[in-house]
Amino acid sequence: LSFNSCNLPQKLLDNIEAAGYEMPTPVQMQAIPAALVGKSLLVSADTGSGKTASFLVPIISSCSKLNQEKFSNQIKPLSIVLTPTRELCIQVEEQAKLLGKGLPFKTALVVGGDPMAGQLHRINQGVGVIIATPGRLIDLLTKHDIELDSVSILVLDEVDLMLQRGFHEQVTQIFQALSRPQVLMYSATISKEVEKMASSMVKDINVVAV
Ligand code: AMP
Repeated sequence: LSFNSCNLPQKLLDNIEAAGYEMPTPVQMQAIPAALVGKSLLVSADTGSGKTASFLVPIISSCSKLNQEKFSNQIKPLSIVLTPTRELCIQVEEQAKLLGKGLPFKTALVVGGDPMAGQLHRINQGVGVIIATPGRLIDLLTKHDIELDSVSILVLDEVDLMLQRGFHEQVTQIFQALSRPQVLMYSATISKEVEKMASSMVKDINVVAV
């Protein structure tokens, strides 16, 4: 499998090439085609495996196809990526900007330490992805009215770490605010607790182990 055979927008392929990604990594080979056809996944993957691009490529592809159909930027957020830390969110956003360059795809970073007003303003402008820590997103949701009906993809990155940090309830609360999204879960280790969270969200989730 190559990136070229995935039916991705040309501009995204150009960005992938410019980033220096010649071949998909094993995680990407399995996750990208499955995510592109709407499957929910539980992926066991470590940092360094290329897991970030394995969810960003399908998100950016869906977003730019959607916007092309509507001939505009969609007003409401298409996807949410939750990670356990501010730093991880920043890294995900950097890669999202790199891969989404020149496409109708915007990002909103929702983490602690930055003013909420700016984050809210950004979301209201219409974004392809909200990249957030669970605590801050819940904060934003409880203090402001944000429409999340449009969110069709939820990514949970480093689920094992999120559970360790006690985010279980907040992640569940965010999931429940959405309308049956496609769920892409990533974890270094697939513990019973991780499996339990997966099955509470999606029946018969597809397990990807590389
Ligand atoms: P991650 O596992 O998402 O933390 O990614 C680890 C690093 O691999 C990042 O710096 C990416 O830029 C890089 N990367 C992701 N996909 C590829 C690829 N297909 N080929 C080469 N490098 C990649």
